[in-house]
Amino acid sequence: MARTHNSVFDRRESDVRSYCRSFDTTFTKAKGSTLTDADGREYTDFLSGCSSLNYGHNDPDMKAALIEHITGDGIAHALDMYTDEKAAFLEAFERLVLKPRGMDHKVMMVGPTGTNAVEAALKLARKTTGRKNVIAFTNGFHGMTLGALAATANAGKRKGSGDVSLNDITRMPYERSLGDMDTLAILDAMLSNPSSGVDAPAAFLVELIQGEGGLNAASPEWVRGIAELARKHGAKLIVDDIQAGIGRSGSFFSFDEMGIEPDMITLAKSLSGFGLPFAIALIRPEDDVWKPAEHNGTFRGNTHAFVTARVALEKFWADDSFKSEIAEKAKVLTESLQRIADRIPGAYLKGRGMMQGVDVTSGELAEKICAEAFRNGLIIETSGGDDEVVKVLAPLTTPMEQFKAGLATLEAATETC
Ligand code: PLP
Repeated sequence: MARTHNSVFDRRESDVRSYCRSFDTTFTKAKGSTLTDADGREYTDFLSGCSSLNYGHNDPDMKAALIEHITGDGIAHALDMYTDEKAAFLEAFERLVLKPRGMDHKVMMVGPTGTNAVEAALKLARKTTGRKNVIAFTNGFHGMTLGALAATANAGKRKGSGDVSLNDITRMPYERSLGDMDTLAILDAMLSNPSSGVDAPAAFLVELIQGEGGLNAASPEWVRGIAELARKHGAKLIVDDIQAGIGRSGSFFSFDEMGIEPDMITLAKSLSGFGLPFAIALIRPEDDVWKPAEHNGTFRGNTHAFVTARVALEKFWADDSFKSEIAEKAKVLTESLQRIADRIPGAYLKGRGMMQGVDVTSGELAEKICAEAFRNGLIIETSGGDDEVVKVLAPLTTPMEQFKAGLATLEAATETC
């Protein structure tokens, strides 16, 4: 295995660590769902850049469009000027995503990363409602900048900045019931009573499948309840679809087929399709109130990302065939993970679509399984407050044979551990 120790990484790269450092080799190439290291060893990628590579690595059509753009001296970055590439992306997004759903949302370019989208949505909700409070949920993760981090449940992540106080955040249990209590009814009662101590909210901020928080998947009933409460109390419903969106849940948006239309939707990660930084917030036209320069950021015009995002939309979302392909793989995934859950006492399945995993009951066991899988050529990670969920985030485009082989490696790893 290509070693990274005693290397420039150890000498010079900051020690800010993520789980990715446990993949102790140097990667040199990537194609489809396969990563190759410096020794030529191949790994199946069931991590997909944490869902930022839903279409796999180096999709040939996106690559060709990008090469054509660059060799023609196309613009790389244009702040937020008008460009043909941005127009083509917006037209494709309107035609393939918004119009078929009857959505009249506008696309707000917010910067390179997911957390930029969340910050923009929270700021805009505060501005348009004249309120400050945000209803966020247990186990939610929304990003590492201060506003998004305040809304994030994981105290360990919040501690990274010394003290991110919870001012202006009211955290509620995710999903309907806490024991035998109906949390939606409790929230409704609190918001209806001016002396409850809970300020009128600017927004409800929610993931419909909690990517970092343990793959909890909200039921359609609860989601509809949250949407109804937000509407009743004059708050914006913000769905954070940064990880669960762009096909990961089984359809383009995680809320498709749930009968709701969020006021704002945050998208990033796989939006560019090619792993390029690109984030947007979808907002209703009546919320498009910022005057020039009230909200900006330099990298809102990544033209390379517009090029690849447009190709991704046209290639994968022009009809329902990709959705059917995802459903077929999701079924295979459920069956495989169920076999794992059946073997481990107390283990159970979590998630939805191509965003599923197994709670193996302890972070230690989940880590051992991931390490064993890695030794056998499979890249996979954990999720949850104690990292107790083995989480499969394979590229949605993984060929079925490779997908099944990767799952077999995972199943074998759970037998060994
Ligand atoms: N929201 C969700 C649901 C996420 O999963 C993430 C990242 O994992 C973010 C926001 C933050 O995105 P980024 O890391 O691109 O800032």
